Amino acid sequence: MKKVIVIGAGPAGLACAYQLSKQGVMVTVFEASDAVGGMAKSFDLWGQRVDLGPHRFFSNQKEINGFFKELIQDDFTLVNRQTRIFYNGKYFQYPLKFSNVLRNLSLVTIFQILWDYAIQTIKPIKNPKNLEEWISNRFGKKLYTIFFKHYSEKLWGVKCTQIDADWAAQRIKTLSLTQAVISAIFNNKGNKHKTLVDQFAYPKNGSGTLYERAAKAIETNHGNVQLNTPIKNVLVDSNDKVYGVALTDGSVVEADYVVSTMPLTHLVKGFNEVPKQVEVAIQSLFFRNTILVYFEIEEKDLFEDNWLYIHSPNVKLGRITNFRNWCPSLNKGKNATILALEYWCFEADPIWSQNEDDIIDLAKAELLSINLTPKKTTIINAKIVKVPKCYPVYETGYQEKLDVIINYLKRYENLMPIGRYGSFKYNNQDHSIYMGLMAAEKIVSNNPIDLWAINTDDAYQEKGVVKDVLAP
Ligand SMILES: Cc1cc2nc3c(=O)[nH]c(=O)nc-3n(C[C@H](O)[C@H](O)[C@H](O)COP(=O)(O)OP(=O)(O)OC[C@H]3O[C@@H](n4cnc5c(N)ncnc54)[C@H](O)[C@@H]3O)c2cc1C
Repeated sequence: MKKVIVIGAGPAGLACAYQLSKQGVMVTVFEASDAVGGMAKSFDLWGQRVDLGPHRFFSNQKEINGFFKELIQDDFTLVNRQTRIFYNGKYFQYPLKFSNVLRNLSLVTIFQILWDYAIQTIKPIKNPKNLEEWISNRFGKKLYTIFFKHYSEKLWGVKCTQIDADWAAQRIKTLSLTQAVISAIFNNKGNKHKTLVDQFAYPKNGSGTLYERAAKAIETNHGNVQLNTPIKNVLVDSNDKVYGVALTDGSVVEADYVVSTMPLTHLVKGFNEVPKQVEVAIQSLFFRNTILVYFEIEEKDLFEDNWLYIHSPNVKLGRITNFRNWCPSLNKGKNATILALEYWCFEADPIWSQNEDDIIDLAKAELLSINLTPKKTTIINAKIVKVPKCYPVYETGYQEKLDVIINYLKRYENLMPIGRYGSFKYNNQDHSIYMGLMAAEKIVSNNPIDLWAINTDDAYQEKGVVKDVLAP
């Protein structure tokens, strides 16, 4: 019988282990932290469940929705998406609504938007290479500046000209301004079913419920999920065969296959000898971290959105989640509301190691400055959660470096690096789940699936109607 080790109990690792365990494969998951779910976990905070920022589940792929439905069954709710952008002192509906944009922008700005769009349409940039070029090509420079530039630069910590166009191609609907205006004017009229943009599935007890149930099912199927067990490195023999993993306490566990969702950079650094060009490539891939500042606020009706994008360059704050507005049962009828404010940074940035009280003071001041809360708001509780390496940065030219690493790793046929930081792909839950399911398929049926090819195309997961994709 095949013996498989999975490193990491996030969506990718657990989807893989769940699928393997269903087919009788001996699988052990080693998880470094004390909980399952990775970045998509849920946890108890001040008497209710919360997630690590907003976690909306959506996919138009049968296998992924099958995994969700098998484990969550009917314990999910459909949340009507309500999100806005804060820019220049005003809130814009997102996805954009035409009347709202008209109300919030001056006639001069609207004229500039149309003018820039016309110029870009007549003379587009051939082969756009970076984020600025890609978005300007579709929407024009002015709209890019208002709705994309500041937010993207906060998120990535580098100029949009340094971010590879790949990211936009994967994450931004391949719409043009003309299509956006048409759909904004008609605002879904004539389309009686909600799309995956308007509505999403959410497990009634938080996004992490899916992974808690997957872990339970793995144990029921005689697999094993070991928490608080970080893997130090993967072990390879002189024939380029992976034969197991070393734990941080020095012990060794052997296996026929290792599926790794630990950061790709750590995985490769754990090998004894790597060629110079691989070492160089590894040094040039980097990640962005998130600091989440949770506030419990003595207010019931702060704002209606599930989350808000804070584009304004006057504050460092990037996004705010309101956990009151996801699934009403989570809040348990409390009078207080829990918000999570997101700050993005590199590991070397001072804020990452700053005193927590100072970060909380900064977050309080910024929250007040964007006119979301009454001036006399009482913050009952505050807590900081740090999420390292959560955004693989698609800096221009990153793909060539990644290719060097992929080509090197392909020699280890029984090692499968998957997942968000595991394969250096800007995955949502659905992409990571799919990678996990496909890794399991590859192990069980020896199918020559190229796991590196997942989430590289422009297939847009939001294209779909909720009623169709979640139907039994
Ligand atoms: C703020 C935020 C908001 C997001 N919003 C959404 C959203 O709305 N919708 C959506 O679909 N996705 C969202 N995502 C993305 C989603 O969380 C990820 O795509 C998903 O969690 C990736 O799953 P994964 O298994 O690839 O990686 P992870 O979730 O990172 O899991 C990897 C696991 O491996 C463990 N690990 C790491 N190193 C080791 C080691 N050496 N030994 C053992 N274990 C190790 C980690 O502790 C972790 O549990 C969001 C992410 C963030 C940070």
